[in-house]
Amino acid sequence: MKSSHSYLHLKSDLYTEEQPIPISDPKLFLVNHRLMNSLGLDAMDHNVLTQTFSGNRLPQQFKSVTLAYAGHQFGHFVPLLGDGRAHLITELTDLEGQVWDIQLKGSGQTAYSRNGDGRYALGPAIREFIMSEAMLALGVPTTQSLSVITSSEQVVRQQPQPGAVLTRVAASHIRVGTFQYAAARGDKEMLKQLSDHSIQRHFPELAQRENPYLSLLEEVIKKQVTLIVEWMRVGLIHGVMNTDNTLICGDTIDYGPCAMLGVYDPQTAYSSIDRHGRYAYVNQPLIAQWNMARFAECLLPLIADDEQQAIAMVEPLIADFKDLYEQQWQQMMLHKTGLDLATENNQKLIQDLLLIMEQKRLDYTLTFHQLTESLVSDQQNQIIKQQLGDWLQQWRQHLAIGESHDVQHIYQRMRQANPVVIPRNHHIEAVIQQCLESQSPDAAKGFLKVLQQPYEQQETTHHYQDLPTDGDAYYQTFCGT
Ligand code: AMP
Ligand code: MG
Repeated sequence: MKSSHSYLHLKSDLYTEEQPIPISDPKLFLVNHRLMNSLGLDAMDHNVLTQTFSGNRLPQQFKSVTLAYAGHQFGHFVPLLGDGRAHLITELTDLEGQVWDIQLKGSGQTAYSRNGDGRYALGPAIREFIMSEAMLALGVPTTQSLSVITSSEQVVRQQPQPGAVLTRVAASHIRVGTFQYAAARGDKEMLKQLSDHSIQRHFPELAQRENPYLSLLEEVIKKQVTLIVEWMRVGLIHGVMNTDNTLICGDTIDYGPCAMLGVYDPQTAYSSIDRHGRYAYVNQPLIAQWNMARFAECLLPLIADDEQQAIAMVEPLIADFKDLYEQQWQQMMLHKTGLDLATENNQKLIQDLLLIMEQKRLDYTLTFHQLTESLVSDQQNQIIKQQLGDWLQQWRQHLAIGESHDVQHIYQRMRQANPVVIPRNHHIEAVIQQCLESQSPDAAKGFLKVLQQPYEQQETTHHYQDLPTDGDAYYQTFCGT
């Protein structure tokens, strides 16, 4: 186990050295064996694992810190948020040499807790574990979950719930909000340190560029574009795209109020506090661009001494977000529909399909799944024909079957872009409920087994493919869990 602490080399205003607050009667509930292996922790004794990832007793070489950050929450700037219930206990290098942040979440009050209790409830911890594993397997860039450990203490939300500590593994926890924290303090030295640190950790090739900080912005934008296109592909509605929940490394973080798109309605938003749909499915690219503009503002003093000049340099990059996104989104949709080139005809076919799905209130995942299977199954072809009518005929004519590709090739290509199974909202809720009632992780493990191969039909996959009877009409998710 190679443990390091690169964050401690940064200005000390960026963090507070403090220890997790122990939990009572820690018990291992879920563990990610794949991740344990890749971090070289597979030989770790069960007791040591439980003590370490509950925060009750850290290995001697670990140095626990909590991180300061700011952020725009629903568009409003808060100059100090910080880890209110999380401790970065160490960084570990995996077998391939990549460095990972190991962070406990729910590990007690910190210097940044404000009025919060510093704790995490078991239900939301199970949700984060399942969702992050599902996203990883779907191919969406994401933070990962190493373990969930229960405590015998209750945490009080709307009602008392069992408490837990989740261990999150992230390429880093540097957020747009971390840069905003430094920028709001007017501390150029801190900004420079943070930028150099981010470059070294995530984009080492940029250090040699003529203007590394402008290049940093460009690369972070690219990562965000890729991330959002992937969310749109699988139908993830993140739900709380605040700048403090936007990582520089471009991975998904914060699975609090997220949900999956069911019925194809672009305006869908499930978070109870997102009353105006700021973070609705369709708005995600726009919000990501807005977040990148906030990131760009932080970098201005490093990009050029003259502010006007710096603004003139970043503006085209922010404006390009839209084009970059649209290009990648088109490619992604071509992939999902098995079409070849971004011709005008094909683009129109895609728009028409989405319009039919919206008007007929079809399920996003199921429709693409059926469309894929229609290539190899007469039965599926009949079903999807009823839904899509003439469009299906037009689509088949444009597939170029027999010209450049055979059906199998197109089928395989579509299969890679269209999951068979996703963590549907009603299933994740039912699984969490079962875990809480039975005080056993079995339901979560059963679901995870299927979600870890989301592009394949396994023996038990069909248990998780049914649609919610009410179309998720009343479904709500919550922040501050
Ligand atoms: P989130 O909504 O999870 O992104 O959290 C926003 C801010 O609230 C972050 O600074 C969190 O650390 C803090 N926070 C959330 N829940 C708690 C809690 N139970 N105790 C202390 N701080 C919290
Ligand atoms: Mg957060």
